[in-house]
Amino acid sequence: MEQTLAILKPSAIERNLTGKIIGRILDRGLIICGMKMMQLDEAILREHYAHLVDKPFFPQIVSSMTASPVIVMCLKGVDAVRVFREMVGVTNGRQAAPGTIRGDFAMSNQANIVHASDSVENARIELERFFKKGEILDYTPQAMASLYSADEALL
Ligand code: ADP
Repeated sequence: MEQTLAILKPSAIERNLTGKIIGRILDRGLIICGMKMMQLDEAILREHYAHLVDKPFFPQIVSSMTASPVIVMCLKGVDAVRVFREMVGVTNGRQAAPGTIRGDFAMSNQANIVHASDSVENARIELERFFKKGEILDYTPQAMASLYSADEALL
């Protein structure tokens, strides 16, 4: 099964949306197998958003992403990277489809509530960036038979 990184950004923490968002993740059937609160700093953001460090809005990313602690999660499931990315919606909250997390909770291109890894390879790199060894647990719920058919659960 795939694993992907979710970050509940300061925009989610400050607006007390964490319960609703974690509820959506669990309701969908994604499995949380790592979760912690942490304070980000510019160094980790320069790595995580390396593709954006030269953009004029990068300083705003740093200030918005360090405005409060964040919650980082490792989510597990069949096709978890694509499934969670689709649940999150496009970057700009004003353009995100209703029903997506950003489309339901965000009005901003920047303060857009949640991060989701965009590929299996990036998910692996990002999970290593945010979690130390031992913080991602080998957890499979008892209720797997209610989440997947037997052949799907092997994927
Ligand atoms: P995504 O988070 O949807 O994968 P990107 O990797 O392109 O999108 O951007 C990372 C984050 O940087 C976005 O989630 C958003 O918070 C911020 N960002 C991206 N583009 C802009 C922009 N044009 N203006 C302000 N913030 C932006």
